[in-house]
Amino acid sequence: MKPSAFEYHRPTTPEEAAELLEEFGDEAKVIAGGQSLMPMLNLRLAAFDHLIDIARLTELSGITHDSTSVTVGATTKQATIGRSTTIRTSVPLLSRATSLIGHLPIRNRGTIGGSVAHADAAAEYPAVALTLDAELEALSSAGRRTIQAAEFFTGMWSTALRDDELLTKVTFPRWEGRSGYSIAEFSRRKGDFALSGACVAVKVDENARVEQCNIGLFGLGPVPMRATAIERSLVGCSIDALEVREIGHAAVADLSSVPADLHGSSAYRTRVGATMVARALTSALEEAIDD
Ligand SMILES: Cc1cc2nc3c(=O)[nH]c(=O)nc-3n(C[C@H](O)[C@H](O)[C@H](O)COP(=O)(O)OP(=O)(O)OC[C@H]3O[C@@H](n4cnc5c(N)ncnc54)[C@H](O)[C@@H]3O)c2cc1C
Repeated sequence: MKPSAFEYHRPTTPEEAAELLEEFGDEAKVIAGGQSLMPMLNLRLAAFDHLIDIARLTELSGITHDSTSVTVGATTKQATIGRSTTIRTSVPLLSRATSLIGHLPIRNRGTIGGSVAHADAAAEYPAVALTLDAELEALSSAGRRTIQAAEFFTGMWSTALRDDELLTKVTFPRWEGRSGYSIAEFSRRKGDFALSGACVAVKVDENARVEQCNIGLFGLGPVPMRATAIERSLVGCSIDALEVREIGHAAVADLSSVPADLHGSSAYRTRVGATMVARALTSALEEAIDD
C-alpha cells in the first residue's frame, strides 16, 4: 500500500523544524529514519498532511561527552551508536542494547530520537534511557526544555513531547566506580521486538555491597518501567547474599498490565520477564566485581 498524500518539508535547521511543527500542529509529523513511521503510513494506520524530515539536520546528529555525561543527538543513527567507542566505554548498556534492535539495515536508518519518541513499550532504547535516568531535550518555538526519562514515557506510544516539540538530544550520565551493565531479552526470532526484557545497571562498593541498582523492564506494560521497590531493597546488600531468581520474580510480581497477544499470554511474558531480570542482574554483578 501507499501512504495517503502529504506535503514534504525539509527544514535546514532544528529551529525551522520547530516553526513548521508550530505552524501545522497535529497535522504534521516529524520523520527521522522512517523505520517505524513509514510502515504505519504505508499501512494507513496513520495519516498526516505534512511530514517534516529532520534526518539531514547535522546539528542534531553526533555523540559528545564530558566528565559526567554522554550526549547523543536525536538523529544519530542506531548503527553509529553501535560502532561508537565512546558509547561502548562510557554507556555500555546503550551499546549492548543496540545490537538487539531489529537488523543492521534498520539500524542504518533508525535513529535514537525516533526510537525514544516512538516509545514502543518493547523497544530497547526507551528502557535504557529510563534505566540510566537519561535526560531528554525538547525544542519548540518557545525554546528548549529538559525532560527526565522518568517523566517522558506517558503511555502506549505516547510521550511528554507536545505536538509542537522536537526531541533534540538524549543525555546519559556516566557511572563511575565498580559498575556493571546488562540487557537481557527474549524474542522468538533474532531481531524481533522482545516479548519481554530487562536492563540492569549496578554499582558496588569496595566491600562488594550494592551501592545502587537500577532495573528497567520492557515489553511488560504499556510503557517501560523501573522496579523501584526492588531497587531500593537491594541497596546495602552483600552481593554474595543476593538470590537473583527471587529478585527476578519480585521485580515483576506487582505488574498489572502485562500485554497478551498471539505471541504470548500475560502470565508467560511475566515469567519470562522474571528470568530476564535474573539474567541481566547476574551478568551486571559479574561485570561490577571484575571492575
Ligand atoms: C522490521 C523492523 C524491526 C524492528 N525491530 C526493532 C527492535 O527489535 N527494537 C526496537 O527498538 N526497534 C525496532 N524497530 C524500530 C526501529 O528501531 C526504528 O528505527 C525506531 O523505532 C524509530 O526510529 P526512526 O528514526 O526510524 O523514526 P521514525 O520512524 O522516522 O519516527 C518514529 C516516530 O518518532 C517520531 N520522531 C522521530 N524523531 C523524532 C524527533 N527527533 N523528535 C520528535 N519526534 C520524533 C516520528 O514523528 C514518529 O512518530 C524495528 C523496525 C522494523 C521495520
